[in-house]
Formats: sequence, structure tokens, C-alpha cells
Amino acid sequence: MISAQSVSKHYGNIRVLEDITLDVAQGEVCCLLGPSGAGKSTFLRCVNHLEKINGGRLLVDGESVGYKQRGNSLHELAGRELGKQRSKIGMVFQHFNLYPHMTAEQNVSFAPIKVHRRPKAECRQRARELLSQVGLAGKEEKFPRQLSGGEQQRVAIARALAIDPKVILFDEPTSALDPELVGEVLAVIRGVAETGMTMLVVTHEIAFAHDVADRVVFMDGGVIVEHGSPAEVLENPREQRTRDFLRRVL
Ligand code: ADP
Repeated sequence: MISAQSVSKHYGNIRVLEDITLDVAQGEVCCLLGPSGAGKSTFLRCVNHLEKINGGRLLVDGESVGYKQRGNSLHELAGRELGKQRSKIGMVFQHFNLYPHMTAEQNVSFAPIKVHRRPKAECRQRARELLSQVGLAGKEEKFPRQLSGGEQQRVAIARALAIDPKVILFDEPTSALDPELVGEVLAVIRGVAETGMTMLVVTHEIAFAHDVADRVVFMDGGVIVEHGSPAEVLENPREQRTRDFLRRVL
């Protein structure tokens, strides 16, 4: 579902991603771990074309992210075509990024109504169902400022689900939360994983990665240092850099 082939990314002459090759199969949960500055977030942002890659190939659901093949050349997508491709990819950010002037229900139904132009009543009903799925029944009319951080992040997860994506990207979804709110959000993410959603999750929650991931990827300095099952990477890492990182965070 996600295929990165020798992806590289640089800002000026700073190399941020170097030769990243990674495949995530349909229904797979892949957790990206690594120290701050490793390039995890940048990679996630490349997957939905918030950042352009400078080398290699990046495919989601068989399509080149941000580009269309015409004959032998690639053309960058824009406007509606890019929007259509992005609608396959849900994104959940560290800082929730909800629309502050909209209620929880409006936040969730906004993209389906405005971008996908689906019938309003149907989208609202679906938004209510999704809010109930993330444990927020009864909070549909609340504005983000009236919700806790954990509740806001659960609205953001419902919003990502509302576009019926093929993939959801989570960028440190619990890093901005007070510690007592982390568990409720991880439980919701685990619930989404159990539905068979393909997920790429940048996280510092090692126990979560151990329990929920099918595969763990450890990145450092813009490269994949090692990847494998949670047991392989987290319990028996091959590389010294992985061992040092785990020792620091555990
Ligand atoms: P991580 O998510 O692993 O903490 P990031 O992907 O955020 O790492 O950052 C990787 C590196 O890229 C860092 O050194 C960061 O300073 C650099 N970087 C990220 N975004 C930009 C940017 N827009 N311009 C220049 N450098 C950037």
C-alpha cells in the first residue's frame, strides 16, 4: 500500500532522508521510531506530498505520490487531482490541527462535504458515528477549546477516518498530551489498527509499538538503521545505535 524506493530528501545541502526503502502492506501497522531529527516526520510528510522528495520513488496504492505518469515523464499533480490522491491518505498531527471555529462534528464532516461533495446529511450522520467510535458520543457540538487534548486528538482521528482513507499517517499523535491522556488516544489508535487499516505511526511509545505494530522501523540520521518485527527490533536489536536509543528512552 505504501512503497518507498530509495527515497531521498534534502533542504539545500542538508540531507534529511537518504535512500529510504520501505514497503507497508495493506492492513499492516508500521511504527517509525528514532531520535529527534532522524527524519521520521519528514518521511511522513513526503508520503502525502506535504514535502517533495528529491530522489527515488514513493507510491501509495500503486500511484506515484504527487505525480502522474504521462508517457515516459512524470507531471506534478495540482489542485483537484492532488486533492483526490490525498483523500486516500488520512493524517493525524501531533498538535491535532482542528479547525477552532468548528464543532467536533463539523471538523469531522468538513472534508467529506466540502472536498468530496458528498450529501450533507449523510456526512453528518457518519461524523456522529465516527465520534461515537472514538468515544465522543455526546460531544458532537463541542468546540475544540471545550475539549481536553485527548478528546481533541480523538476528534482528529475521527476526521482522518471520515475520508475513508486507504492509509492513515500518525505523526507523534500523543507527544503533545498530558501523560494521563495518552492512554485513551493510544486505545483509539489500537482500535483503528484492529479494523485492518494500513497505518504508519511515528511514535515514542515503545510499549505501544511493541503491542500494536506488525513492523518496527528504527531511523537515525536520515537512514533506516534496522527494521523487523517488534520482538526483533525492540527486544533483540542488531545495531548499536538502536540499542543506545532504546536504553535512553526505556
Ligand atoms: P524527526 O521527525 O525524526 O524528529 P524531522 O523529520 O522533523 O525529524 O527532521 C529531520 C531533520 O530535517 C532535522 O535535522 C530538521 O532540522 C530538518 N528539517 C526539517 N524540516 C526542515 C525544513 N523545512 N528546512 C530545513 N531543515 C528541516
